[in-house]
Amino acid sequence: MDRMCPCGSGTAFAACCAPYINGTAHAPTAEALMRSRYTAFCEGAGDYLFETHDRYTRSPNERAEIERSIAGTAWTNLLIIKTQKGRSGDTEGHVEFAAAFRQKRPPVLVTGATGDSDPIKQMHERSFFICDEGRWFYVDGDQLDPYRPKPNEPCWCGSGTKAKKCHG
Ligand SMILES: [Zn+2]
Ligand SMILES: [Zn+2]
Repeated sequence: MDRMCPCGSGTAFAACCAPYINGTAHAPTAEALMRSRYTAFCEGAGDYLFETHDRYTRSPNERAEIERSIAGTAWTNLLIIKTQKGRSGDTEGHVEFAAAFRQKRPPVLVTGATGDSDPIKQMHERSFFICDEGRWFYVDGDQLDPYRPKPNEPCWCGSGTKAKKCHG
């Protein structure tokens, strides 16, 4: 059975973000690029993350920072909150998202100590994307205060539980 895409689209990885990450297709919208970059962080696809970051806003240590982020973070859920523009034919777009993650710790040889015991955290960002000759690139993002879904909406952490009974 095909495994589901980490981006949470509800479709198979092979039919969702994989073609973008493998380079067989370009993400057609800012949201598709955002999703595929989240998936690339989950999959450890550092080259794709580097190539889809606008070259003018890449940090001088971009590659090392990507590798450190991949090594240190376990992403567990992606929630797309809002997109503005970013469609085919647009030259720019914004995507607001909340992503859930745990810090990965080096394995410790103590009974019962696992990475799973680390608290789940949230990254809430409004990302900016540009389209250059038909290809979308991540430019940068604004970090926002933690996103709080409405009490009866699903929790941002991906538990499937209503927010009020989870991290709400
Ligand atoms: Zn996907
Ligand atoms: Zn929760």
